[in-house]
Amino acid sequence: MNFSRTDCLARDAADSLAPLREAFDLPAGVIYLDGNSLGARPKAAAARAAQVIADEWGKDLITSWNTAGWFDLPKRLGDRLAPLVGAQPGEVVVTDTTSVNLFKALAGALAMQSADPRRTAIVTERSNFPTDIYMAEGLAGWLARGHTVRLVDSPAEIPAALGDDTAVLLLTHVNYRTGHMHDMAALTALAHEHGALTVWDLAHSAGAVPVDLHGAQADFAVGCTYKYLNGGPGAPAFIWVPGRHQAAFTQPLSGWWGHATPFAMAASFAPCAGIGRALCGTQPVVSLALVECGLDVFARTDMAALRAKSLALTDLFIALVERHCAGHSLELVTPREHARRGSHVSFTHPHGYAVMQALIARGVIGDYREPHIMRFGFTPLYTSFTEVWDAVDILKRILDDAAYDVNAARGAVT
Ligand SMILES: *Cc1c(COP(=O)(O)O)cnc(C)c1O
Repeated sequence: MNFSRTDCLARDAADSLAPLREAFDLPAGVIYLDGNSLGARPKAAAARAAQVIADEWGKDLITSWNTAGWFDLPKRLGDRLAPLVGAQPGEVVVTDTTSVNLFKALAGALAMQSADPRRTAIVTERSNFPTDIYMAEGLAGWLARGHTVRLVDSPAEIPAALGDDTAVLLLTHVNYRTGHMHDMAALTALAHEHGALTVWDLAHSAGAVPVDLHGAQADFAVGCTYKYLNGGPGAPAFIWVPGRHQAAFTQPLSGWWGHATPFAMAASFAPCAGIGRALCGTQPVVSLALVECGLDVFARTDMAALRAKSLALTDLFIALVERHCAGHSLELVTPREHARRGSHVSFTHPHGYAVMQALIARGVIGDYREPHIMRFGFTPLYTSFTEVWDAVDILKRILDDAAYDVNAARGAVT
């Protein structure tokens, strides 16, 4: 691989995805390497928000539930998102938060396992994103039927943690801290051998890496739209229930949006057929509508092309950091093996928080995660090879000059 800035400029000139950057509004002078946490704003989002607020809400008022398609939006967006994760139409809804959807998926899976009272264990990783563990703990405690959350300390321990008592294997496909990517098909097959169902969290996968939920025979999935899918801060998340499980799927947040006939105003709940039963109540329409602006950009390319560029970007970043920042106590925690790597790269540094603050002050925006981890997200829709080169150059100068404040105060969000 070539390493000079000139080489990077040439790679950008030859990059067929480079024109997609024009679809995003990124401030001048900023190298944005945090699209894994909050995706950049599609330019179209401002006009779309104005349309929803001024026209659909402002002029058409309540008629917009029908005339502007507000009521169908969770399903319509779900169908547009489905191909990015290997789902079929009618299997995904965009709704609620990832945490809430996880609760629904997990509750539905546990209910399907309830015929066998021995199956009480929810197996997940200690290094999972905390909300996934918290939601599992909350559900297990609230059920009060002896359910437990079994935490494993490394992917290698997963096989031994599965057994006759396992109800669900709950995993995040790409680890938010390390960028490690699980083999979804192999782990799902293993869980099924033990009679367990799988729930996959695609927060760092959807729009970042190719996902084939049906190919992997996965059982349930949830994911986030405000990260790689560029839906906007707090944009509604998604939940996938495959056609083969929909009839058996029930979830306890049985609000009226999941009812078979919501406007019959019946006094008792009856779930609708299909993915609609994963819905609960009225959605934040303005935020929901903007998810489409992010999905529109994905419609102009495909996950294979995005994956090829993502791997090229992360390979380049790893190689440049190891070449230019050698001797500065940086340690790569992200797998080098392509098959095990998502679309972000993490290095530890003893003063990771302070170094990240110095980077942000110089316009290189990544983020920090305990313990000592500097995390850099690479979004092939809008990150260029030259930006990778420049980001490493700035990192090198900060480290060479020790130009960071080890007493930097922590913000509420790191
Ligand atoms: C970002 C992320 C979430 C976020 O959940 P919210 O309910 O949107 O706050 C959940 N799980 C994982 C694995 C994540 O990376």
